[in-house]
Amino acid sequence: MPISLTSFSLVDSPVTVEEGRKILERDDYVCRYCGLDGRASFENALVMRVDFVVPRAHKGKKNPSNLVACCTPCNTIKGTRVYASLDEARADVRARREELRKVWQAKEARPIAKSASA
Ligand SMILES: [Zn+2]
Repeated sequence: MPISLTSFSLVDSPVTVEEGRKILERDDYVCRYCGLDGRASFENALVMRVDFVVPRAHKGKKNPSNLVACCTPCNTIKGTRVYASLDEARADVRARREELRKVWQAKEARPIAKSASA
């Protein structure tokens, strides 16, 4: 039996495979926070999941209006924060990603190889 990417990405989710698939298809497998295209590559497909806009920890409902396609990094960055709207959540997640990117580039990134600039 082939592995289902949808079920694989929903292992820890209270959303059933079928519910998750409907949300991912509705959102065209694109992360609603950063725009990552879950159909662009296998690696992208592996990180797609369904996010509760209002987190379960804050009594967010398992209702399609509260569920969006999301990549794992955005899901982690968003955590259990509560926002007034999806737009506000998207702006904050993107800002946090950029802050993390700057820290990573300053401290963790490999120096650019000399051959890359040749
Ligand atoms: Zn994302």
